[in-house]
Amino acid sequence: MCGIVGFTGAQAAAPILLEGLKKLEYRGYDSAGIAVMDNSVISVNKVTGRIANLCEKTDDGKAVPGNTGIGHTRWATHGAPTSENAHPHLSNDGKFAVVHNGIIENYMSLREELIKEGYHFDSETDTEVIVHLIEKYYKGSVRDALIKTTNRLRGSYAIGVICNDNPGTIYAAREASPLIIGVGTDENYFASDVTALVSHTRNVIYLEDGEFAKITSEKIQVFDCLGKEIDKSVVRVMWDIRAAEKGGYEHFMMKEIKEQPAAVKATIAPRIKDGKVIFDELDISTDKLKSINKILITACGSAYYAGCAGKYALEKLCNIPVSLELASELRYSEPIIDEHTLLIVISQSGETADTIAAMKECKEKGATVIAIVNVVGSTVAKLADYAVYTWAGPEIAVATTKGYTTQVTVLYLLSIFFGDKLGLIKENYEEYVKCVQSLPRFIQQAIDMNPAIPTLAEKYHESKALFFIGRNTDYATSLEGALKMKEISYLHSEAYAAGELKHGTIALIEEHQPVIALCCNSKIMEKTLSNIVEVKARGAEVLALTFRNNEKIVSVADDLMFIPEIDPIFSGVIEIVPLQLLAYYVAKENGCDIDKPKNLAKSVTVE
Ligand code: GLU
Repeated sequence: MCGIVGFTGAQAAAPILLEGLKKLEYRGYDSAGIAVMDNSVISVNKVTGRIANLCEKTDDGKAVPGNTGIGHTRWATHGAPTSENAHPHLSNDGKFAVVHNGIIENYMSLREELIKEGYHFDSETDTEVIVHLIEKYYKGSVRDALIKTTNRLRGSYAIGVICNDNPGTIYAAREASPLIIGVGTDENYFASDVTALVSHTRNVIYLEDGEFAKITSEKIQVFDCLGKEIDKSVVRVMWDIRAAEKGGYEHFMMKEIKEQPAAVKATIAPRIKDGKVIFDELDISTDKLKSINKILITACGSAYYAGCAGKYALEKLCNIPVSLELASELRYSEPIIDEHTLLIVISQSGETADTIAAMKECKEKGATVIAIVNVVGSTVAKLADYAVYTWAGPEIAVATTKGYTTQVTVLYLLSIFFGDKLGLIKENYEEYVKCVQSLPRFIQQAIDMNPAIPTLAEKYHESKALFFIGRNTDYATSLEGALKMKEISYLHSEAYAAGELKHGTIALIEEHQPVIALCCNSKIMEKTLSNIVEVKARGAEVLALTFRNNEKIVSVADDLMFIPEIDPIFSGVIEIVPLQLLAYYVAKENGCDIDKPKNLAKSVTVE
């Protein structure tokens, strides 16, 4: 889920491709490569790590002759970040090179089909099926081969292709992944976003889903999915470059908050087929599952709170006790663990030092380990018995948003998957699956329902402290809500189980003390309502998060944020969204460096 570039013209292609890739590096990277065509000879250079390594390998591109080429910076989804898996990928006959962003969901069946037909694969990527399909369908017209190939693909892609029968031509196709054509003078380009183009041209053509293009230095032709040529208008880009990197948003954090419907959809898509939850990556037998008498979740920071939010669904649907332990504690606690323990570790980066250490300790004691991770091929993914990827795409802002929601989503899916395997879910199965399938839509609604949050932030940003309260699933989400607030706005914020207030914390409530009350669990709503009334009686200002039609809460709270109504065991993913927005706008009011909060790092690789 990273970046691609393409160039054709009179200049040397490699330096232009490298420069474009550097501009796309902010989208994430783990390896990179270019394929350049010199007359009809295609040369490929690939490296692991940053684009700088590719520049070093190719003497900043000067060592690679040719003036037509394609390039790729990879954020691995299928296969570890090795140079074999780096793009471009070549066809067996060496005629075609392909770069691809996105995920081909049906790559397994295509791969089997192509292997049976005699094609051999050099990588573990989903992408490689594309180049072999193009070779298979090529009968002299790359355009026709591309139509036939894209007809076979399910999933998301921005694809760039070169073919040594057509020196001077680059091809591009898109479906659910961004792709833009740059219109130059006697030279043309494509790229995943305008940042890679604007130093050459501000005239662009936006490809739409299902469209593809044949590009030479003199001519750009765009076709629809049936191969009919279509007229496209050239648009002049006036964007500020730094804004362009952030897709027009002021901060990566806001971009990533808004990406959550798509990210959660990407988490769910490969795991629900024909109304059934499936995990191709988890071949745990039912007997093994039946022998599990305890699930232990370990992680750090937000990933730990994702575990807190997922615990309720796991316990309810699988009827196995779930406990949570912070990884930094677990590693030194001599935990009581054996082969009947299922350990779930959660880490966005997969490189969190404490999590790795805790996981090693538990594995040695016989636990079966499932890792929920975002970064493919990371240490956590490699050490676990089973790696379940969140497919959230690269997350740049230090404070996690889509990383967290996709982790919780995986826990929901696992709960249904295991509960079903254990024969514990009977009549509600369909309803649960539907609930999880509606999460992306509900997240979008939670964003749209809260236009007042910037105003609320103006009201609350100068508070000395913010208290978050809730019970049960609401409490789990308030933990992450309070952490988000601390991380980026530097306000003192704490989450309390609402029922605990009386046992101490209520002493802190004074006139105008803001209390953020999460009330999205109908079963215990009355109880939380009593806590709201208690703090209000002591002068607190209550900002409640609830459903629009929840009249009782709406009538007592001073201020409100809303989410659509959903079964509480799956509500965590939705409830957190207004809290992320609140933290963002409070931090903005306070002039904080939102994407890079002080003293924090994205991936904590030290103890
Ligand atoms: N799914 C492809 C891979 O793992 C492309 C990933 C990307 O978009 O960078 O290689």
